[in-house]
Amino acid sequence: MKKVLVLGAGQLARMMDLAGAPLGMDIKAFDVRTNNVVHPVDPEHIYGDLKNGIKQCDVITAEFEHVAHNTLEECEASGKLFPSSNAIKIGGDRRLEKSLLESCNVANAKHYIIENKNDFDQALKQLELPIIFKSALEGYDGKGQWRLKSADQVEKTWLDMANFIADATSSVPQGIIAEQMVPFDREVSLVGARNTLGEIAVYPLTENHHTNGILSVSVASSINEKLQANAAEVFKKMAEKLNYVGVLAIEFFQVGEQLLVNEIAPRVHNSGHWTQQGADTCQFENHLRAICGLPLGGTHLIRPTAMVNIIGEDDISNEIYTIPSVSMHWYDKEKRVGRKMGHINLSGSTEVELAQRLVHLSTLLNKESFPDLSEFAKSYFAKVSQ
Ligand code: AMP
Repeated sequence: MKKVLVLGAGQLARMMDLAGAPLGMDIKAFDVRTNNVVHPVDPEHIYGDLKNGIKQCDVITAEFEHVAHNTLEECEASGKLFPSSNAIKIGGDRRLEKSLLESCNVANAKHYIIENKNDFDQALKQLELPIIFKSALEGYDGKGQWRLKSADQVEKTWLDMANFIADATSSVPQGIIAEQMVPFDREVSLVGARNTLGEIAVYPLTENHHTNGILSVSVASSINEKLQANAAEVFKKMAEKLNYVGVLAIEFFQVGEQLLVNEIAPRVHNSGHWTQQGADTCQFENHLRAICGLPLGGTHLIRPTAMVNIIGEDDISNEIYTIPSVSMHWYDKEKRVGRKMGHINLSGSTEVELAQRLVHLSTLLNKESFPDLSEFAKSYFAKVSQ
């Protein structure tokens, strides 16, 4: 029985455990807030500290990229960490991420790295408004971001960012990336896996919709083969450059027929949750297979599937269970505004059927917690039923 230690004890570690159990894997999670190794589904069950956790396991992986660097180094020294600490650190620092994209010659938004006022002034000269500024470290779900749309906001934007940099408590110096705003048609992501033998398998591109900076709906359905091939090529380049092992997610902006990389996540990803019901092998199992030296499982779409995030809500009508192919995934978390509490996967035998079910689902969920779902479902239905 392979023993896997996951750095982080959130829903991703939990879903790895749920996927790993049938494979006879024993998954434990390191909770970075308490410094305890715990059971991923029953965190009250404590096994000990990190040192002991590292000793007891065969393989170590991470469910998030903002792991303290000394923890990553301690894990890497054991020779058990997959993906490498380098890959995890790159995912946690937009400066390293941009330099990886450049070194792989992968298309991305024009950008400029800012550490001081002089850099900020240079960025304004090099880029055109609107510009989006993103913190180099610890930015996720749209946090640590500023949008500069008109010249009269320049001073205030710089003051806000200068205060943000000055207040940083991170061990690595905080910085800002200035990025040209891209007039994208849609946001898509590619989730794929590379195993210890260097074999690669990628899932179909997923279309993603955000509400207030947080992913709200992902849909995996019809494939544009040219875009898929383009995204798969980007995945191969980056995964091979990093000698990557595990699941890696790449988020893109689609502009016409072009894909620009927005960011990467060196882990299983929210936009890949649909794979639990829409693919032969879900991303959690494929991640475990990849890091444990097993062949990768099927990644093609077996039926059109959507994922709806449950954010800041713990009360969902049981009526949703009457929808065929609905699949509920709660994370067993205490309710908090903006917190990812669970997700709903929904499939159909055709895209039209999926769209009809999404419309039905949207009528059963309350509008405050799912503000954009109804509109999205209706427009998706209109698109696929043409
Ligand atoms: P990020 O944290 O980089 O994923 O950014 C959060 C969201 O902001 C993205 O999902 C986009 O909707 C938007 N965004 C980020 N960067 C850009 C950009 N360069 N151009 C347009 N929109 C962006």
